[in-house]
This record gives sequence, structure tokens and C-alpha cells, in this order.
Amino acid sequence: MKNIEIEGKKISFEVKSKDVRYVYLKLKPDFSLQVTVPRNRDVDINKILEKKRPWLEKKVREISQKIKIFDKNTVLYRGERFEIKTYYVKNPEKRIRLYKKVAFVYEDSDKKKEEILMEFLERETMKYVKERVEEFKNELNVTYSSISTKNMKKWGYCTKDGKISFNWRLICLPERIADYIIFHELLHLRHFNHSKQFRSEMEKYFVDSREIKKTLKRYYS
Ligand SMILES: [Zn+2]
Repeated sequence: MKNIEIEGKKISFEVKSKDVRYVYLKLKPDFSLQVTVPRNRDVDINKILEKKRPWLEKKVREISQKIKIFDKNTVLYRGERFEIKTYYVKNPEKRIRLYKKVAFVYEDSDKKKEEILMEFLERETMKYVKERVEEFKNELNVTYSSISTKNMKKWGYCTKDGKISFNWRLICLPERIADYIIFHELLHLRHFNHSKQFRSEMEKYFVDSREIKKTLKRYYS
């Protein structure tokens, strides 16, 4: 592995020859760069990287702005980051406790950290969603048939017959953003599309819609 420096970040890169026609660059979230070059062709890697520098700089800036929802050591809850501290306890009374920016997780032979965190976040998401839906549905004068949480890439979706689902990580987001997602799905019970009317109604309740959407894109898990 070789390194280059982009925007003050050390980027390690690997070059692979494949049956491709052009040179491809892929910068991963961990700032490692994969360079794919055509087989049987002489390519000057340094020259390519120099030429691609503006693109790489843009990508590095993008990745630096990303907010990871949780990793091995931390988890976001309502937009705030908690350090995860795991303890092994026999028959723990409680599985998890949040205190002063620390998430204490009590594992035993039955349940491991990941599962405990997932169950906790899912439960909290459901609780929060139900609360907000009650409020928003009166505001919007709509009815739904069911609410659920799911493991999915999207933050939420709604079916024509009124089934609303949310990503179980929703509670990790700041409240304003979570509310935006919940409201968005409920508004689909009125407009089953993203028409102009939908958007203008959305903006009536969330004047900062554009800002929220932009911020939301930064979160990933
Ligand atoms: Zn939508």
C-alpha cells in the first residue's frame, strides 16, 4: 500500500489491474482508495492521481462531513454521541443505561452488545414514532393502518393502504430530523407522491426542509 496526502488526510491506495477500459477510482469511507487500471496498459499512477486531485479533494471533504450512527465504541442517541462501555453481568436487571454521554451495556452469555443496542434503539424508535404520529395525524387529519420498525436502508416508507414503516435507527437522529421523516411519511397518506403540492405542504410545516434534507444525507450507519 502506498500513500498520498489529500486535504491533510493520509490516503492509502491500492492499484489493481482488471479487464476494464478506463481507470477507476473509488474512495471508501475509511479513506482508503482503490485504483483500478486496465490490464496490459502502461499507466502512470502518479499522473492519474494528480489529475484526479480536485475530485479526490471533494470526496475527502464529503466523507469528512459524514456522521456515523454507530461504530464499535460509540452510538448516537437523539443526535448526541454516547461512548459505549460494556460490562459482563450475570442476569442483569437492566440491559442498558444512558448516563452522562456514556451508554452502559450489560452483557451476559445470552445477549451481546450489538443485540442489546439494536433492541434498545428499536424500542426507543417505536416509542418516539408512536408519540409523534399521534400528534401529527391530528394536525394532518389522516389515518394510518399500522406502524412498524424495520431494518432497511431507507429512513421510512408508507404504502397506499396506510402501513408506515421506519428504520429502527431513527431515534439516533436529532429530534428535528426524526420529526421531519415521520411527518414526511404521514403526509404521504394525503399525497401518495412527491408532487409540488406535497413539497409545499412539507415546507409549510418544516420551513427548513432543504437544510434538514441536506443534514440527513450526512448520517450513515
Ligand atoms: Zn416520500
